[in-house]
Amino acid sequence: SLAFKNIFHGYGGLEVLKDVSFKTEPGRITVLLGPSGCGKSTLLKLAAGFEKPVMGSVCFNESPVTGPGVERGMMFQTPVLFDWLTVAGNVAFGLRQAGVRGKEQQDRVNRFMALTGLADFKDYYPGALSGGMQQRAALARLLVMEPQCLLMDEPFSGLDAQLRPKMQELVLSVWRDLRPTVLFVTHDVEEALVLGHRILVFSKRPGHIVKDIERALEKKDPLDQLTDPGFGK
Ligand code: ATP
Ligand code: MG
Repeated sequence: SLAFKNIFHGYGGLEVLKDVSFKTEPGRITVLLGPSGCGKSTLLKLAAGFEKPVMGSVCFNESPVTGPGVERGMMFQTPVLFDWLTVAGNVAFGLRQAGVRGKEQQDRVNRFMALTGLADFKDYYPGALSGGMQQRAALARLLVMEPQCLLMDEPFSGLDAQLRPKMQELVLSVWRDLRPTVLFVTHDVEEALVLGHRILVFSKRPGHIVKDIERALEKKDPLDQLTDPGFGK
């Protein structure tokens, strides 16, 4: 689980988070929903360890977050890929760093390239792909590492209406398989309802949670049936 304890954080003179505390359930999808500027990305950056809170603490599975770690993978609104590596090279990057080589690396890369519908684009460079395909590659690169915690910052908001539900289904089917703890930021209420076991709604006042919606697990059961995101159909 992710636990934010009495977090104070800001930038320069700007106070963004003022005594924010909440804890997510392990192995569940928590959605952060709220207006622009309320501090959603800031919370994700703290969870990723990209920034340290001015005061307070962030823990993942009871261990303090002191910096980035492979157990916590992050994905952004715009794809961040290495443009000097092919798509397969991008997806393999973290595995190589982790010492996963040879056939196992190949198999894992191929599996996630196929799941994101990129099997035919392995040898392309990111610059030759559409924005949607780049974001699929970024998702494959995140998921191939099988992180225990997925931090997703509006990852699908730039995608067209056809691709978005497929990406959501892929996240759900991976969640069903591996049960990562997910913190997912979105502006889209429909997306929050599709993905969230729990939805935290922030107000315009930064860091202020106005609604904490627990959703019945039964409602998620039909989604548990999903396995094939249906790319290429
Ligand atoms: P959005 O929905 O637009 O992405 P958000 O909820 O993710 O908004 P944050 O990105 O967390 O909001 O930003 C919260 C506030 O902190 C905003 O006022 C923003 O301008 C400010 N802020 C965020 N990052 C920085 C930074 N690196 N330097 C200065 N100010 C920042
Ligand atoms: Mg943001």
